Amino acid sequence: MVFPLAVDSKFLRNFCIIAHIDHGKSTLADRFLEVTGVVPDREMRAQYLDSMDIERERGITIKAQNVRLPYTCEEDGVEYQLNLIDTPGHVDFSYEVSRSLQACEGALLLVDAAQGIEAQTLANCLMAMEADLTLIPVINKIDLPAAEPERRAEEIENLLGLDAADCMLISAKTGKGVGELLEVIVERVPPPRMVGEVATCPLRALVFDSHYDRYRGVVTNIRVVEGMLSQGDELHFMATGASGTAQEIGFYSPGPTAVEVFGPGEVGYLIPNVKVVSEAKVGDTVTTKKAGAAEPLPGYEEPCPMVFCGLYPAEGETYANLRDALERLRLNDAGFTYEPETSTALGFGFRSGFLGLLHMDIVRERLEREYDIGIVATAPTVEYRVLLPSGEEAPVDNPSKLPRQVKEIREPYVAMTILVPSEYLGTVLELCQTRRGVQKRLEYPTSTRVELVYDFPMAEIITDFFDVLKSRTRGYASLDYEAIGYRVGDLVRVDILLNEEIADAFSSIVPRENAYFYGRAMVEKLRELIPRQLFDVPIQAAVGGRIIARETVKARRKDVIAKCYGGDVTRKRKLLEKQKAGKKRMRRVGRVEVPQEAFVSALQIERP
Ligand code: GDP
Ligand code: MG
Repeated sequence: MVFPLAVDSKFLRNFCIIAHIDHGKSTLADRFLEVTGVVPDREMRAQYLDSMDIERERGITIKAQNVRLPYTCEEDGVEYQLNLIDTPGHVDFSYEVSRSLQACEGALLLVDAAQGIEAQTLANCLMAMEADLTLIPVINKIDLPAAEPERRAEEIENLLGLDAADCMLISAKTGKGVGELLEVIVERVPPPRMVGEVATCPLRALVFDSHYDRYRGVVTNIRVVEGMLSQGDELHFMATGASGTAQEIGFYSPGPTAVEVFGPGEVGYLIPNVKVVSEAKVGDTVTTKKAGAAEPLPGYEEPCPMVFCGLYPAEGETYANLRDALERLRLNDAGFTYEPETSTALGFGFRSGFLGLLHMDIVRERLEREYDIGIVATAPTVEYRVLLPSGEEAPVDNPSKLPRQVKEIREPYVAMTILVPSEYLGTVLELCQTRRGVQKRLEYPTSTRVELVYDFPMAEIITDFFDVLKSRTRGYASLDYEAIGYRVGDLVRVDILLNEEIADAFSSIVPRENAYFYGRAMVEKLRELIPRQLFDVPIQAAVGGRIIARETVKARRKDVIAKCYGGDVTRKRKLLEKQKAGKKRMRRVGRVEVPQEAFVSALQIERP
């Protein structure tokens, strides 16, 4: 097959799909692959583009994919090259979303006809509008009996100011309307804007995704903004300063197909021959080493961890194994940070930073699944800033490291948007109140839904806020948030003592007014979780050396084989083995055996 030097940008359409989880993004992508003949019917399997196990299981996209769809337009009979760019849909990855949007000229806003638009979708749409993308509202699942396409169209018009009459009605499941949608994409999404003379302009390409492939090394997804990129070019990454070579460039359709050259406006993959993803980061600009661009594309940001926790080897694992696993994972994930730390309770481990809670969950899950290593994780925390008596300011990402003497503690805040059916307004307002929320706005985009905007201390939402919100609203509320900087808080550190010794892994920073309640709840929870030992184990909570709560786990000698006297040996052995397996999930803190789940018990505390 001969490939043209580069595709004429007139015939390019780059677009993405913005949708809430389960509104049908993957199903629609499947239909596109089918209708354009990229995947023959017989090879079609559901959710074709979701590759990672965790993605399929959770129904989310972590890494952006992109796929090239050749489409012959019915209107003019010309073949267009459509590039569908998949964007992550979770608030933890909003920077990645913003970069993917930069690679597009258009976005489909996909809304479930029975559910309506959700807060995160709204936030991503606003981001797309700011990036000057053409939005095409699409109402999906019109085959459902509960579908209310008119109401959805009205909501879209009121929330985003898009004309209700422009909404496309489709069923990604049956395929109804999908053909027309492709026509509309060609018609409404503009071709890439050309800047500068193609032949003479230095290369500037945006990296909108970067991941590590075990066989191929670092693979980036890029959008050429100006100039040409040829296979074999010597490359320069402008933000990280890394050097590379365009070892291979190409596109997915859906398997990888190599090409010789990319022209302006084109989207595809680039294997830049660098060692780790942190050399080719999302948002960076690639140019050629010789006669390269002077200025990078705007908008690059360093990934900034928002949530922190300690990661320690589980019983029976070694520190070295954990360090190797973290090192390997880091090759693949530039958004995650770690540095060694020591805990008196847990020994040697690492303080790790994540983009958000979901990101933290994913990293922990990947460590256990893909790297097969048992870990003990401590409860998540935000990064505080403290003002020391000397006037110096210091970051604190581990509550046990909070200095005794501080002038002021400041904590990170987020601005949150919540969308909820109006019948749940009361319970949501109450929840926001108990989480130190400051109401900024309350509006009704339609008669049945409320849009709330609040400022929250981030610490209040990294525990169970989302779960509680979902359960109070039967799953009908959705939220989105962004960081808005630091504010002073009246905060104190609560320490937990096991057997009279501070177990630093349990220390926590909480509002002074909640300290007593929190200390009480923690010692009660730990008393439930810590099994009886050979001696009494006092569990205490303390603020600044003063004990505020106490419980005791009473001693008991557990003689598992006592009841087997006279019985057969195999039964006895089985029991002992069972006891040994049970022990594996324990961590020793001083003389006390503590089950691993206890370290995140702060997350299970139910608040009034
Ligand atoms: P994603 O999370 O946005 O990728 O959503 P999926 O494509 O995984 O779809 C979520 C669920 O909705 C799946 O069970 C799909 O089969 C179903 N679904 C998607 N599109 C339609 C549709 O047009 N009609 C109906 N009835 N179900 C659909
Ligand atoms: Mg999906």
